[in-house]
Amino acid sequence: MNERILISGGSIAGLTLAFWLARYGFRPTVVERAPQLRAGGNGVDVRDQAIEVAERMGILPQIRAAGTDIAGMTFVDATGRSLARMDMRSTGDEVEIMRGDLATILHEATKDGVEHIFGDSIQTLEQDADGVTATFEQGQTRRFDLVVGADGIHSTVRRLAFGPESRFLRHMEHYFAFAEADPTLGENRWVTAYNEPGKMVGIYRSGNHTGAKANFIFHRREPLTYDHRDTEQHKHLLTEAFANMSWQVPELLTRALADPNLYFDTLAQVRMPSWSSGRVTLVGDAAYCASPVSGCGARLAMIGAYRLAGELAATAGDHQAAFRRYEEGFRAPVHRMQQVGPNLRLMVPKSGIGTRLRNAVARSPLLDSMAGMERIMRPKKTEPLPDYEREAVHPGP
Ligand SMILES: Cc1cc2nc3c(=O)[nH]c(=O)nc-3n(C[C@H](O)[C@H](O)[C@H](O)COP(=O)(O)OP(=O)(O)OC[C@H]3O[C@@H](n4cnc5c(N)ncnc54)[C@H](O)[C@@H]3O)c2cc1C
Repeated sequence: MNERILISGGSIAGLTLAFWLARYGFRPTVVERAPQLRAGGNGVDVRDQAIEVAERMGILPQIRAAGTDIAGMTFVDATGRSLARMDMRSTGDEVEIMRGDLATILHEATKDGVEHIFGDSIQTLEQDADGVTATFEQGQTRRFDLVVGADGIHSTVRRLAFGPESRFLRHMEHYFAFAEADPTLGENRWVTAYNEPGKMVGIYRSGNHTGAKANFIFHRREPLTYDHRDTEQHKHLLTEAFANMSWQVPELLTRALADPNLYFDTLAQVRMPSWSSGRVTLVGDAAYCASPVSGCGARLAMIGAYRLAGELAATAGDHQAAFRRYEEGFRAPVHRMQQVGPNLRLMVPKSGIGTRLRNAVARSPLLDSMAGMERIMRPKKTEPLPDYEREAVHPGP
C-alpha cells in the first residue's frame, strides 16, 4: 500500500502534500533542513485552483484573514518621484499573502498525523523493489515506501535520484535577493520599484503588516559560480551588483546585508523530462520551479502537492500509476505557468529606453493595470481540479 512516505522539505509544497497524505490515511514524515519553519519571503499569490485546494483543506479563511493589502506597483526615479503606477488590486478570487504566513498556516494544519523532523536532511537514498532506504545527515537510517522531494530549486532528492542540478536548472540570466527593509522607505500599500539598466530594487510594504521587504534583481548573462548555501558569497555578489546605485539603494543594501535571513538565488526554472524515478518523485520548485517573477510558485506547489497526494489515494498507493497520472494531469498547467518572459522584461528593462517604454506602457490607459494584463494572458479554460476525496481508496487501517 506504500503507506510510509518521506517528504524532504517542509515549506509550501511539502506541507500541502503532508496534509493531504495524512487526510487519505498515509503516514507522511517531513524532514526540513532548517532548524525551524522557514517563514521568510515576500507576498505570494494564492489563486485559481490553489484557492480551491485551500478551501478543501479548510484553511481558506485563515489565508484570507492574513492576506496583504498591496494596491499595486509604483516605478520611481532616483529622487523617489513616481513615474508610473500599475494597479494590482485583486479583481477575482485570489489572495496575496506573505510567504511566511502561508507556511505557518500550512504547518499548523499538519500538526496531526504528520511526523515533523527539523534540522536534518536526507544524505543518501537507496531504492529496491520494496522500498527506499534513506540515511540522514544526523546519523539515522530509516526505511520508507516512497520518497518525495519537496526541497526547492536546489533539491537534494533530485540530485540523489535524477542527477546534478545543472541538467535541470535553466538559468534565466538574472539573480535576485529578498531581505528585511526599513518600512519608512516604501510607500504604504505599494511595491515601490527603482530601475537602472539591468537592475531593479523594490520595497514591498503591505499596509496590514508591520515591517517591509526589499527585493533586488540584477541581470547577468553568464551564470555565476558560487555556493548557493554560502551567505558570505551572497553578500559579496549583492554588494558588487548594487553598490553604486542611486535612490534609497545604499540604505536598503546595508539593511539587507545585516539581515540574518537574507535570501539570494539564481532566477532559474526547473525543467525535467520526468518528475519520477522508481519510488522517488518531486513536487513544487524541486520539479518545476517557474521562478519568483512568475508569481506562480506557491500556486504550482499547492496544486501539484494536492494532485500528487490525490493520485496516490485514488490508486490505493500504487506509485507507478499515481506518478504517471500526476505527471499526465499536471504537465500542461506547469508549462503555461513557466511562460514568464514578459514579466521579467517589465520588471527589469535592460536599458534606459526600455525603462521609459515600460513606464509609458504602465501609464497607458489601454494597459493601465498589471491585473488587466494578467487577465488577458491567462488561459481562458482550465481543466477542473479533480475531486480525489470521492475516488480515494484509503490505505490505512
Ligand atoms: C525562505 C524562502 C523565501 C522565499 N521567498 C519567496 C518570495 O518572496 N517570493 C517568491 O515568489 N518565492 C519565494 N520563495 C520560493 C517559494 O516559496 C517557492 O517558489 C514556492 O512557494 C514553491 O514552494 P516549495 O515548497 O516547492 O519550495 P520552497 O519554498 O523553496 O521550500 C523548499 C523547502 O525545502 C527545504 N530544504 C531544502 N533543501 C533541503 C534538504 N536537503 N532537506 C530538507 N529540507 C530541505 C527548504 O529549507 C525549504 O523549507 C522563497 C523560498 C524560501 C525557502
